[in-house]
Amino acid sequence: MLDLSHMPVVDNHCHPVLLNQQMDVLQFRSYFTEATDASFSEKHVHNSIYYTWFLRQAANFYGCEPKEEAVLAVRNSMNADELLERLLEAARVDTLVLDPGYPLSDQCYTPERMGELGHCRAAKMLRLETLMQQLILAHDNFDDLLERFSTELSDVRERGYCAFKSIVAYRTGLNVERWSKDEAAQSFAEVYSIAIRSGRLRIAHKPLLDYLLHIAFRKAAEQQLPVQFHTGYGDSDTDMRLGNPLHLRDVLEQPEYRSMPVVLLHESYPYCQLGAYLAAIYPQVYFDLSYTIPFVDKLEMLTFTRQALGATPASKLMFSTDSVNVPEMHWVGAIRGRNIIGRVLDELIDADELDQEQAYQIAQLILRDTARAIYKL
Ligand SMILES: [Zn+2]
Repeated sequence: MLDLSHMPVVDNHCHPVLLNQQMDVLQFRSYFTEATDASFSEKHVHNSIYYTWFLRQAANFYGCEPKEEAVLAVRNSMNADELLERLLEAARVDTLVLDPGYPLSDQCYTPERMGELGHCRAAKMLRLETLMQQLILAHDNFDDLLERFSTELSDVRERGYCAFKSIVAYRTGLNVERWSKDEAAQSFAEVYSIAIRSGRLRIAHKPLLDYLLHIAFRKAAEQQLPVQFHTGYGDSDTDMRLGNPLHLRDVLEQPEYRSMPVVLLHESYPYCQLGAYLAAIYPQVYFDLSYTIPFVDKLEMLTFTRQALGATPASKLMFSTDSVNVPEMHWVGAIRGRNIIGRVLDELIDADELDQEQAYQIAQLILRDTARAIYKL
């Protein structure tokens, strides 16, 4: 059995955790579903394979009964700093690559503090749609907006970010199209008037969003900066039909974007084979394997890991957890990712596809080395 338990990981996509870790059962459960309807926490989460498995791991870690109330009682008795420190240390994290765009920053640990408590490196990415929303609210003139947006996306590494992240899949879909400047300006005028009236903005206006994304892609390509795209399974507002990574074709085909590494997040679940295929074909595409969210069970994780390794060179795959809100996720995702990758590599050794040493090197690429290189950590 390939033992990867000591191998440090670069978690190439995860989120900050909440400052307030005191919570009741329903709140805790709500973090283990992407559904927003309250009935899921009340009736369904505790019947998911993922959550029942998770409770056993947590009970083992905390040394308590494998019961929900017991796990909650132990974790709630610890202060948040202590909880975070214990779990991140046990996860053996080399680097957390954090998306601070979610949850709201005033409710969360900063990336810097997470790094301190985890005794690891913390890098962060810049969420493009959040920046767009802030800048639109602050500019009544389209040309001024464009200029400021371009400036904010220049010298990105000096500004402390190692990647861009786009949630366009949640908003208008991965089929990012070309629009004329006039069309984008007209869309901006509509968006601006709505935003000013309500004082807030959730950008979901395709001509404007797509137009700004193309600016961001040019900037990313100039700086060889990776862009992480949410693909597949995610927030309940996503239109899964447009979360299929094949919709990125026009962006991937664009010669001027070839120097922009594209990371397809969350194994594009359930479009796993399609995402893995793109990573196998396009030189700039990388495929993220995340082991906390989607909330799927071990058998399903084995399947997508097999599909990815089966079709795609290992140097195009990167590990993540996509953990968020509670630090147990950062911990359990690292444990599980190592375990699943180890099992699949074992199967490949048994099938005489790999030897032990090759398997170990592949694990190292997926768990750490490729991410280090791509994000220039
Ligand atoms: Zn995420």
